Amino acid sequence: MAPENNLQAVFNSAEEDVVDGLRAAQVFSQGTTYTYDDVIMHPGHIDFGAHQVVLTSKLTKGITLAIPVVSSPMDTVTEADMAAALAMMGSIGFVHYNMSIEEQVAQVARAKRHQAGLNAIPEVLAQDSFVADIHDLKRVKGIGSVCITDTGAPGGRLLGIVTPRDYDMLSHAEHRTTRLGDIMSRDVVTATEGEAHEEALQRLHAAKRRVPVVNASGHLVGLATRDLLRHHSRYPKVGQPSLDSSGKLRVGAAVGTRDDDRARVAALVSQAGVDVVILDSSQGDSTFQVAMLQHCKAAHPDLQVICGNVVTGAQAQRLVQAGADGLRVGMGSGSICTTQEVCAVGRGQASAVYHVARVAARAGVPIMADGGVQNSGHITKALALGASTVMCGSMFAGTTEAPGEYAMASGPSGPVRVKAYRGMGSLAAMTKGSEARYHSDTQALKIAQGVAGTVVDKGSVRQMVPHLMQAVKQGMQDVGARDIAAIHAMLRNGSLRMEVRSNAAQAEGNVHHMHSYDKVRW
Ligand code: 5GP
Repeated sequence: MAPENNLQAVFNSAEEDVVDGLRAAQVFSQGTTYTYDDVIMHPGHIDFGAHQVVLTSKLTKGITLAIPVVSSPMDTVTEADMAAALAMMGSIGFVHYNMSIEEQVAQVARAKRHQAGLNAIPEVLAQDSFVADIHDLKRVKGIGSVCITDTGAPGGRLLGIVTPRDYDMLSHAEHRTTRLGDIMSRDVVTATEGEAHEEALQRLHAAKRRVPVVNASGHLVGLATRDLLRHHSRYPKVGQPSLDSSGKLRVGAAVGTRDDDRARVAALVSQAGVDVVILDSSQGDSTFQVAMLQHCKAAHPDLQVICGNVVTGAQAQRLVQAGADGLRVGMGSGSICTTQEVCAVGRGQASAVYHVARVAARAGVPIMADGGVQNSGHITKALALGASTVMCGSMFAGTTEAPGEYAMASGPSGPVRVKAYRGMGSLAAMTKGSEARYHSDTQALKIAQGVAGTVVDKGSVRQMVPHLMQAVKQGMQDVGARDIAAIHAMLRNGSLRMEVRSNAAQAEGNVHHMHSYDKVRW
């Protein structure tokens, strides 16, 4: 045989030589369950800049977001501050429901009140509070200025404002005895709700201090701060704020599927104007969930409802047919989660996303990949495997906007600042009331499906999210997809090629053989 024919025998046909790797359908039909780190995508052809990649994506059939990462409804991740910060960047946060209906309504309302581009959520005290109460706030939130209203809460009539210059000459003992009503500035420059951004900016510069924002009847609805303005100019722009039809920030909330959750949904819709609810269950393929979905759609036709969690095509099919506006995907993939260990049920997250997306895409239902995301590469892989949005818990825990106080803990190279992060199925969270998600509420014995612990201080989500999104854009550019519709099309037509990584390939794909190094995230 001539040497060139030998070569012909060694190599495949010209086309097979050129197009290598596997289609997703081949990777995910091998009977092995995979997660994000198991797979790696091949680069494609680039004929556009990363800045041209568009990340606009569908959260549900009826809601489109400028960026595809959202925050998890967990009591150490999403309350008003997180929801407002994410909506300002074009995303959405889901306020958890491990609290009373009234508290959850107040959190959603507070985030929705936040005026896009200008207002921080104000800290408020009453006239008869003491300077020492401000110090308590300062310890927890790092805030030294407060608004004073007649009710001592946001929404009350604005009476004045107290900033450090009003009390920093007082002695420690005087802090305990001086009432805020006696030292507050009553002559307050205010901005009016709905005032054009530029006018409010000018007023802020002129006032040289914080400017409370009031509605037409003088009730406090927000606070314009110089810090916030600095944020505005300092942090990279991400996407246009997520706004509802009346121009307020979009906010989501989680609810359960018990009968009393119907009252919760009604209050969230009528009193807070929530845009979308998640029916929160670790195993969403149940008659309870279908009944709750049908109730929500009948009682609140404008409300978008996301069902889940699911990890198989069969589970997805039932919820899609019942009318879900979106599906949440993942079981046992969360960083704080022990479901697979305790209950022996679940699926690797990459496999779950791929298989649910196949079913949901046929019905035009967007899916949210929930859990297991630790870096921008995981987000890009989730989108490439068919997700329209990605839900983060631990990524956003430990940020400035996450609920809870920072504490100091020892780390490998000295003390580090940490915040609590816990699973909603941890004993600590269930004891506070979140057991319904894990079907433990009627059981005499509570079975934990999650752990409670801490994560390190990650700074502000306003800093983190723009960097994550830029990295996702670069990943999309590498595979040759200009937007999420394009990467989904590549997934379906087989032009998105990938492979499973061996353990050695995964080790090679991480930093290796270094004596020491700094891994700067952003
Ligand atoms: P992470 O982003 O930290 O990897 O995962 C967050 C996700 O884990 C949440 O959105 C939720 O779906 C899931 N999760 C939250 N708490 C628990 C828990 O205690 N047990 C289990 N099994 N999953 C949890």
